[in-house]
Amino acid sequence: YGPDDGVLVADGITKRFGGLVAVDDLSFAVEKQEILGFIGPNGAGKSTTFNCITGVYPPSEGTVYYNGRDVTGSEFYEMVQNGMARTFQEFRPLEDRSVVDNVQISLVPDRLFSTSGLRGQTRARAVEICERVGLGERLRQLPDELPHADMIRLELARAMATDPDLLLVDEPFAGLADEDITELSDLLRTLRDQGTTFIVVDHNMRGLLQLIDRAIVINFGEKIADGTPEEITDDPAVRKAYLGS
Ligand code: ADP
Ligand code: MG
Repeated sequence: YGPDDGVLVADGITKRFGGLVAVDDLSFAVEKQEILGFIGPNGAGKSTTFNCITGVYPPSEGTVYYNGRDVTGSEFYEMVQNGMARTFQEFRPLEDRSVVDNVQISLVPDRLFSTSGLRGQTRARAVEICERVGLGERLRQLPDELPHADMIRLELARAMATDPDLLLVDEPFAGLADEDITELSDLLRTLRDQGTTFIVVDHNMRGLLQLIDRAIVINFGEKIADGTPEEITDDPAVRKAYLGS
């Protein structure tokens, strides 16, 4: 893979933790406004790959290209400035701040607690983002008053606050009922139609396959399949990894 093979290109990414190879020579590309699924059992290396791509830590080996540029080893804040954002699997909003405050914090990290107080302009922007993700009726609620599905929306809103071109979403379906998965999938597709490119991780294969355009399946840090939902479902290596037969 080379720098121009997609909006984001991972070329030969490896991540070692001591003797453990969490991600092993993984290569893939994402095209603009694609929803790429990232499927694999627990411990397969999905979150680690996200961390290497978004600069939480650098890969041990390999190259990350973003918009044609080698961004390997850039810090998280630089990736965000470049137009990349992510949600975290373990999401901890500020519990004593409202939904809209939590989104506003992501817009202006240093200002919320400043003596001058909240600014109207950024407030309007935070409200707009909440409305885009379906939290318009919940602006003043505290995070722990939200149903789980709306917590996921809040985490998405926080990521959308940096106005990303590419959004990496880690396990959005965990703990959600089927109808919530369908609604969240509709939201992600709407955001995609408005211009955002997505990589979505989940180990809920059924939920993910109804959302995505294409999927990459990883097992023990290695790519074992890359294709459309139909191709993935029929792939013998995928069936073996998932069904153990
Ligand atoms: P997934 O997100 O697919 O469930 P992870 O990427 O979280 O998997 O983990 C992949 C492997 O790397 C697991 O064996 C996990 O225990 C290990 N791992 C993840 N992060 C660290 C870390 N910071 N230090 C050591 N081992 C880690
Ligand atoms: Mg994970």
